[in-house]
Amino acid sequence: MTNSTSSDVSKYRFVNTIDGRAVDSDHYIDVINPATGLVCAKVPEATPDQLNEAVAAARRAQPAWAARDIPERRRILGLIAKALIDNRDELAHLIVLEQGKPMVRALDEVTRSVEQLNFLMAIDLHDDHLVDSNDRPVRIHYEPLGVIGGIVPWNMPLVLGVPKIVHALYTGNTIVLKPSQYTPLSSLRLGELITPLIPAGVVNIIAGGNEIGQLMSEHPDIDKISFTGSLRAGRAVMRSAAGTLKRLTLELGGNDAAIVFDDVDPEKIAPSLFRGAFANSGQICMAIKRLYVHERIYEPVCQALAAIAKRTVVGDGTSKETQLGPLQNKTQFDMVSGIIDDARAAGGRVLGEPDNAEKLGGYCIRPIIVADLKEGTRLVDEEQFGPVLPVLKFTDTEDVIRRANATEYGLGASVWSKDLDRAERVAERLDAGTVWINYHLGSDARVPFGGSKLSGVGVQYSLEGLRASMQARAIYSPAPID
Ligand code: NAD
Repeated sequence: MTNSTSSDVSKYRFVNTIDGRAVDSDHYIDVINPATGLVCAKVPEATPDQLNEAVAAARRAQPAWAARDIPERRRILGLIAKALIDNRDELAHLIVLEQGKPMVRALDEVTRSVEQLNFLMAIDLHDDHLVDSNDRPVRIHYEPLGVIGGIVPWNMPLVLGVPKIVHALYTGNTIVLKPSQYTPLSSLRLGELITPLIPAGVVNIIAGGNEIGQLMSEHPDIDKISFTGSLRAGRAVMRSAAGTLKRLTLELGGNDAAIVFDDVDPEKIAPSLFRGAFANSGQICMAIKRLYVHERIYEPVCQALAAIAKRTVVGDGTSKETQLGPLQNKTQFDMVSGIIDDARAAGGRVLGEPDNAEKLGGYCIRPIIVADLKEGTRLVDEEQFGPVLPVLKFTDTEDVIRRANATEYGLGASVWSKDLDRAERVAERLDAGTVWINYHLGSDARVPFGGSKLSGVGVQYSLEGLRASMQARAIYSPAPID
């Protein structure tokens, strides 16, 4: 693709990056702009043979890449960071077109990718030193696994894809990365931008659907899959990976609970609660998906959130006024619409709809709050992944902890209270990989991120996440032989 910020990208040619080359295909995937529902670009769909070429290229390139020392790997990752920064506007523009979010949020996404890259490559990769039962030293040495397969969802194409590249490269692995078939534009363009900066085969980026993801998961020459996406697909990846026992990091869905105690000011916390639930139109794995509010401040919190929902501007992400974009695809739009219908039918009190709501285009849905629902309804029990938030009432702390934990997921959770001792005590009892106090959302690549229960396997980020792309080798000190 040429360097352009035109809203029409259909005249550009997107390519897969395989072995340092721009590779076309006979088959194309239509990419839909969710703000209009119309095709905005076509990308070449990698064939199974092209996947094999990408894996073979990554395998060939890996030993020489691993032989580069850490400062050299950091230097090249720094070049990738510079490419992201230098092309921030263009990449953000592609994210707006393919994903739908407002331009400022897409710019944030590129910036955030660079921040995470910098945090990750600042982590000290070192051996560990233990002592065995004979008081002799044992050195734990870490080696790269080889070739990593990265599979990415459609809600945050770059901020979820770039860290997969960094985990792999910084630890001496090479990678084949597959963005979602719904949002391949920014990732394919990134492949083109970084090709001149890195040795051929070290980063391969290919467009493809679920079948290519499955072939990656089964592939005998891929050593690990780093997967972010739905529970359904995560389970499929685990099944496909069983034959080769390849290593897995699975970052899956969530049904995060936020618990709001009665010592907070509803008006003051409402903007943070709203952001925690509705950022990216609710399409964030670790967004607030169930809001539990103490009965004493239940109605004021509902009304404060509804007031923000009412004045939120929803629409095409290319418009400067837009605060929330559309749902990313028709399937998600239909799924969220069905959950809203179900919530209404179950007696939910819908708040936040403007009196004279304008008709929205594409896959847009206005943010709404649903009060007076209980567990046992789809909106409370399932992951809605969209701009609709159930607000549930509680009176008793033990009861709300039990209800917050009564889900198959365990990605994130939050506690909101001025009593920080209480908040800490409750946080310790919430069964989730991350718990925030007095805010919700946000991850930092210096801190491990992963889910409990069905929200995932393993963690990304931090030394622990980096080591998940490495094999530990225990080297015992020599025993005396004479
Ligand atoms: P999805 O699971 O449908 O697709 C994600 C990726 O997996 C895509 O690239 C897709 O092509 C691939 N895929 C699908 N089926 C596959 C299979 N059988 N084998 C291998 N690959 C396959 O998910 P989505 O709809 O794109 O994303 C939404 C989901 O992702 C939500 O559940 C959300 O919570 C989750 N998510 C989790 C995190 C996290 O860090 N935990 C972050 C973002 C999104």
